[in-house]
Amino acid sequence: MPVTLLGAAEIRALAADLDVTPTKKLGQNFVVDANTVRKIVTAARVTSADRVVEVGPGLGSLTLAILETGAPVTAVEIDHRLAERLPATAAAHGVPDGALTVVAQDALRVSELPGDPDVLVANLPYNVSVPVLLHFMEHFPTIQRGVVMVQAEVGERLAAPSGSKVYGAPSVKAAWYGTWRLAGTVSRQVFWPVPNVDSVLVGFERDAAARGTEEERLRTFAIVDAAFQQRRKMLRQALSAVLGGSSAAASEVLERAGVAPTARGEELTIEDFVRIARA
Ligand code: SAM
Repeated sequence: MPVTLLGAAEIRALAADLDVTPTKKLGQNFVVDANTVRKIVTAARVTSADRVVEVGPGLGSLTLAILETGAPVTAVEIDHRLAERLPATAAAHGVPDGALTVVAQDALRVSELPGDPDVLVANLPYNVSVPVLLHFMEHFPTIQRGVVMVQAEVGERLAAPSGSKVYGAPSVKAAWYGTWRLAGTVSRQVFWPVPNVDSVLVGFERDAAARGTEEERLRTFAIVDAAFQQRRKMLRQALSAVLGGSSAAASEVLERAGVAPTARGEELTIEDFVRIARA
């Protein structure tokens, strides 16, 4: 039996049945358009050979589109009412037993995922999308690539090259793990309720080799945070607290790393930040 997708009327009926009123706090904007969920799955190039993890399956619209490919899905949902209903929705839509595993947990705290997923596909809760992405890249190294829907400003930031206006700490931290690109825009009208922000798709591929050890990552991220907390200041000032306690000490470290002490954080690539952390 082929997997069938959810329609807009069914999504609203499911929510009414569960007594769920979508909340802003949990970023609950459900996709009610089959073309959009299929577009996300196509952008992620999911095949039956993949093992997918989805964050925030909600009522299941994107989940069913992923399962339609034949790939098994592990879905992490914080809202227990939604998590509990999902297996029944999947079964009613032709999903075979065993293809869907639901983990009823906060995605920011989940530390184990069954099935060693290799692809992340999600319409992320917008208020926590960057921390969720960084948590998953850090804790689940089997994830090799993915496509996520996020607020447009966040997507632009994740995919921003150094030197651009929106380049910031999330751009550099994301780049520690791999390469990120904008992968399409999504109309507000495909959501229920309609959000008051625009959405984009962001694709990523994990780099084949790790950039450094866990200790180096922590040190690099602390330097990145300090550099962007005072993004208008020159690095010798912005980093004085984390590099030796004075701007003279910071200048010395920066010079050893081959970075101009008068540069600003937004001019530096992830490679530059890693060199500073090592120096
Ligand atoms: N995937 C569904 C869709 O496209 O219709 C729902 C997407 S909705 C934007 C975000 C979903 O993430 C909601 O179901 C919400 O309950 C869930 N969520 C919010 N915060 C979460 C968290 N910290 N961990 C796991 N799920 C979360």
